[in-house]
Amino acid sequence: MSPELILTTIILTTLSAVAFIFLINLSFKKGKLKRLDFKNVATQLILLTIWISILSDILLAQNRTQEYVSITFFILSVFIGIFLIKSLHDEDKYQETIKGLVNKLQINNEELKQLDKKKTEFVSLASHQLRGPLSVIQGYLSMVLEGDYGSIPEKAKEPIYRSLRSSKALSLLINDYLDVAQIERGEMEYNITEINFSNLLKDVVSEFEVVAKKSKLDFIFEDKTKNIKINGDINKIRQVLSNIIDNAIKYTKEGRVKISTKREDDKIIVSVEDTGIGIKKEKMTEIFNKFARSEEAIKVNVVGTGLGLFVAKIMVESQDGNIWAQSEGIGKGSTFYISLPIAKDN
Ligand code: ADP
Repeated sequence: MSPELILTTIILTTLSAVAFIFLINLSFKKGKLKRLDFKNVATQLILLTIWISILSDILLAQNRTQEYVSITFFILSVFIGIFLIKSLHDEDKYQETIKGLVNKLQINNEELKQLDKKKTEFVSLASHQLRGPLSVIQGYLSMVLEGDYGSIPEKAKEPIYRSLRSSKALSLLINDYLDVAQIERGEMEYNITEINFSNLLKDVVSEFEVVAKKSKLDFIFEDKTKNIKINGDINKIRQVLSNIIDNAIKYTKEGRVKISTKREDDKIIVSVEDTGIGIKKEKMTEIFNKFARSEEAIKVNVVGTGLGLFVAKIMVESQDGNIWAQSEGIGKGSTFYISLPIAKDN
């Protein structure tokens, strides 16, 4: 074969191979070349080089056998090449799909965040509206019980007391929702002052004496520390202590609730121990999650939000303290601990 003919054949083959690759691109990308993909183009160029060199081998073959071997290689390389290009285009398609899905997820996520914000605002508004009338009900019930409207028949005392307790429980529930809404909006504020912790605890404990007595529980208070001062938000610490003591009474049918304090270096530790329903070992940290309620708790006390400990943990930790629980298991009672840093000059 003359060199001119070989050159012409190579040029023609190259042009037809380029046209072939271009057509493949067009067909796979549905008539649109979206972008110049380096990986695809490089693969196609390599294939092109291989095909041209095999074609030259065919043209320059010295004998029939060499020609047949080269033709077989050429056919094989065309099939493998087409398969390779197709898989690259498929990969491209998958990547586009994944990108689309990620975009969709991001949009959905944003919408969910907005919905959650609206829900928090609604709960907060509704709870605010409920708080006012409820405190009026509580005020009147307390006055009736204290005899401000004259003596009340003995048999009316218990129902009035129960109504007062239920309305207080409802207030706590509303406060929990309001607190969670505030936490979620990142708007919980702490008004830090120096607090006489010993006096505060004594005060909170005395508020629960009647409730514990009504539940026929031994109510023990052992304060080994005197005049301990801490820096913190008095209302929030009062709320946390009340929640822990209230829970101990709520979740104990019989036996006792014992509140003790001890000083450990620069910390005051309050423990509230009960002989109640207990907590499974594996649920010990879970109970501090939002809406966490154990099966046993649901059975014993139907009313409850599972928000009290979640709020308490955030409040305590925001004041450099700690809150944790211990229990030997179901039916074996529980002990809740709160540790708070003592003021520097104590
Ligand atoms: P609530 O009491 O409204 O359910 P909390 O957040 O105060 O919500 O408590 C969360 C859960 O922790 C309770 O539902 C209960 O399962 C468990 N828990 C809290 N205190 C005690 C306790 N003293 N004994 C046993 N379980 C408790």
